[in-house]
Amino acid sequence: MKDVIISVRDLTIAYNDKPVLWDNDIDFIKNSITAIVGPNGAGKSTLLKGILGLQKILSGKIEIMGSSIKEMKKEIAYIPQSSSVNWNFPTTVFDVVLMGRYANLGWIKRPGKKDKILAEAAIDKIGLKDFKNRQISELSGGQKQRVFIARAIASSAKIYFMDEPLAGVDKKTEGIIMDFLHDSQRRGKTSIVVHHDLNTIKKYFDHIVILNKRVIGQGEVSEVFNPENIEKAFGGEINV
Ligand code: ADP
Repeated sequence: MKDVIISVRDLTIAYNDKPVLWDNDIDFIKNSITAIVGPNGAGKSTLLKGILGLQKILSGKIEIMGSSIKEMKKEIAYIPQSSSVNWNFPTTVFDVVLMGRYANLGWIKRPGKKDKILAEAAIDKIGLKDFKNRQISELSGGQKQRVFIARAIASSAKIYFMDEPLAGVDKKTEGIIMDFLHDSQRRGKTSIVVHHDLNTIKKYFDHIVILNKRVIGQGEVSEVFNPENIEKAFGGEINV
């Protein structure tokens, strides 16, 4: 039996009474790099937000390491879809990365020297040293995505949630992000990643959840990622 890190049972989420996720059971495996795939509107982003407590659920039970999201917030880093973020907000690369430390700060504590050192180290690691004091509005798409990764590195999270981190980034950034995820796996972390490019599933991921409002398949990529399941999820939309 594999170690389950997040257990989702009977999960239904609706917008305006219209279900977009319908009665889903999902087990996310500890120390995996899991892709969530499915057509546009399949409910992939909604699934992440539901697990993270950012979207109200209609019914269901979600356990993260046996506890609720409220108790587990510190263990999680969430990297939202880049397009959903207001990049015109007046703040610097350093301040965004430092925010990764906030979950680790006590009640009303300000970030201290150690937090700042960890933020700097994360910025160095992701190749953004020269951009540390830059406004986030002045970054390229790939650099923006790397700022989020640095924020995750600075945190002490055990589970990373990422919503299409490779969308619209250059090859160099794609390499940096995937190296980070594989390195994190070696250090015992778990990553759950909404991913749109079916051509890179086998190369980058070991587990997969194939979704279209309902779960079509879940488990190891080698067992579940097959033309039948992809056809079921995507219908006529795609040729594999
Ligand atoms: P995916 O990430 O797989 O593309 P989403 O989870 O973003 O899918 O969306 C699933 C469905 O829910 C889509 O039909 C989308 O239009 C709808 N939806 C998403 N967010 C909202 C919202 N805040 N209000 C109403 N409908 C929404």
